[in-house]
Amino acid sequence: MKPIKIVLVITLVFFMSVLVLYTIEEESVGQPNVVQLSKTLYRITFPYSLRTNTAVSMGKDGFLLVDPGFKQTVPQLRKALNKLGKGKIKYIINTHPHGDHRSGNIIAEPETMVLGMHDAKMMVKKGVFALGSGPLKGFTGQQFETYYILKFNGEEIRFIPTPGTHSASDWLIHFTGSGVVHMGDLLLSQSFPAVSRKIKEYFPILEKAIDVFPEKTVFISGHGKELTKQGVKDYLNMLYTTAKMVQAGKKAGKTIEQMKKERILKEYESYNTYLDWLTTDYWIEVVCKFL
Ligand SMILES: [Zn+2]
Repeated sequence: MKPIKIVLVITLVFFMSVLVLYTIEEESVGQPNVVQLSKTLYRITFPYSLRTNTAVSMGKDGFLLVDPGFKQTVPQLRKALNKLGKGKIKYIINTHPHGDHRSGNIIAEPETMVLGMHDAKMMVKKGVFALGSGPLKGFTGQQFETYYILKFNGEEIRFIPTPGTHSASDWLIHFTGSGVVHMGDLLLSQSFPAVSRKIKEYFPILEKAIDVFPEKTVFISGHGKELTKQGVKDYLNMLYTTAKMVQAGKKAGKTIEQMKKERILKEYESYNTYLDWLTTDYWIEVVCKFL
């Protein structure tokens, strides 16, 4: 073979392998599940790893993303956004700073503002956010003390700091016009809550969310399916019921190991299905040690 042919063959093989690798990379994160929740709001999830839920606001102002998930899913997320419409990514908001929610921030464009809970006060100073006037009051007197406001794609988005139970800087993100709240990992609709020793401070957050957000609100979980308000109530009741069962076992002198072995929460094991370490066994331990 002539040297020029050898070079051509090598080049061809190189590009073919790059194409194959690219395709494998693309396929390994799977196809996105895209659900439209309002005229301007979508929830996108890839069947990859912990299956983080991304919220996407798309409209005349461009894109705002909440939790772009894993960096591995970014090429496919970009494609999914292109299918929704054209526009710049103006904001990326992280419900909290864990890697499964923010490593996908690499999707940011040069002008994108990437924001987390700790940036809120600075954003007020810069005139990007407004500070909400007074607390956000619920139907029966519960309230969130502080919130921040951003107007985007024709609706008021409210950011409500609720730090300290899952991470040091969680906040809830309420799309008021769409009637949707992204709860981050403060709601794991198909797992037991990832709050460990802060369990006592966690229940009031769900109580407040139920009281403050309007009746028809859709609640996006950090991971897992969306819930209606009734769904959140049922979830919280399930947590109270199972906690009582564990406490009764403890009072009767049973050890953690005994309760796990007896599978005292057997009928609630369906909540094990999504994040496989947040199981009934985990819950028995958390309730025994920290409640
Ligand atoms: Zn998470």
